[in-house]
Amino acid sequence: MIPVTKPYLPKREKLSHYIDGIYQRSWLTNQGPLVEELTRRLEDYLGLDNLLLVANGTLALQIAYQAVEIAGGQERVAAITTPFSFIATTSSLRWENIEPTYVDIEPRGWCLDPLRVEEALGQRTFNRHILALVPVHVFGNACDVDALAAIAERYGLKLIYDGAHAFGVKYRGTSLLRYGDASTLSFHATKLFHTIEGGAITFRRKEHLERARRMINFGSSPAGGVEALGINAKMNEFQAAMGLCILDDIDEIMERRAEIWNRYRSGLQGVVEFQEINKECEINCSYFPVVFESERMLISVKSELEEAGMCPRRYFYPSLDILSGVPPHDAKANSRAVSERVLCLPIYPDMTTEDVRAVIDNICRVMK
Ligand SMILES: *Cc1c(COP(=O)(O)O)cnc(C)c1O
Repeated sequence: MIPVTKPYLPKREKLSHYIDGIYQRSWLTNQGPLVEELTRRLEDYLGLDNLLLVANGTLALQIAYQAVEIAGGQERVAAITTPFSFIATTSSLRWENIEPTYVDIEPRGWCLDPLRVEEALGQRTFNRHILALVPVHVFGNACDVDALAAIAERYGLKLIYDGAHAFGVKYRGTSLLRYGDASTLSFHATKLFHTIEGGAITFRRKEHLERARRMINFGSSPAGGVEALGINAKMNEFQAAMGLCILDDIDEIMERRAEIWNRYRSGLQGVVEFQEINKECEINCSYFPVVFESERMLISVKSELEEAGMCPRRYFYPSLDILSGVPPHDAKANSRAVSERVLCLPIYPDMTTEDVRAVIDNICRVMK
């Protein structure tokens, strides 16, 4: 069987070495030394400041909304977000009582379209107070960060990027995650870099980091006592140990993914459509999405591949504006058009070249 993705597992001995240390210290969680070490090493590797490790990528989003103060107030508030993403982008907003307001994506790059955001903010009247933009660097492709920053500035909105796919992605030579008031990461087992379950937030402002640091530990202040409402969203030492092992191998992981990505790209050129990558962006080759001319074609290719033991996945389907029951006139046409026809092909570091070849050949055969 060829799965769509497969968690990367580091050398067992290396992980055991870290676990020996955890046993010696009997320090399992609560800002332990391995969490501290991983924080510093990730800041260094990714070129970021103000990084906070948390229990998973969904809590990363929720804590980010709270820390930049778009959540937790009494008002009925909303955020503009994309309908073309994993459900957590939307559900994290709703969980924090922030109404997701969908604006359509760009038809070729698939990220939130700044022109439409501008249009929506200028024309529409909302029954809730819009406080933020929550765009997604979908499949690691960079949003139009300059245009979105200008809009956020003009309308006084907070800008929080769901960067769950953007680990190691560069924009004009530096980390894409440096844009916005905050960006979040997911370190779930299926992601490019993982800590089994886990995530992170990187903030532009130190004070947001400090607020979030207290929030993830029940609102406790460093001096003792509880100074604000908090929750438990801490990363533990075993998660950090896994992360430290994988970070040692990350360059090889990314190289192998890029190799597979390039094989798909040349093997499927002219057969299917690809996501158009932002010109300023160096992607991380974490996903290989392809678009068919119709949903019918997608379904027949998918079932043929499954017959042959290959398991591509329909990321992201359906378009989220369908799920939350917005009126039909408000359908996000670009998002729906991509959602209905996009398939993510298997890609993971130990996928063999023969398996990549077999996926390409099968697609070409069905498309003929
Ligand atoms: C994986 C993912 C998340 C959620 O991360 P978890 O670590 O699984 O909670 C959020 N947003 C996007 C776009 C994702 O792909």
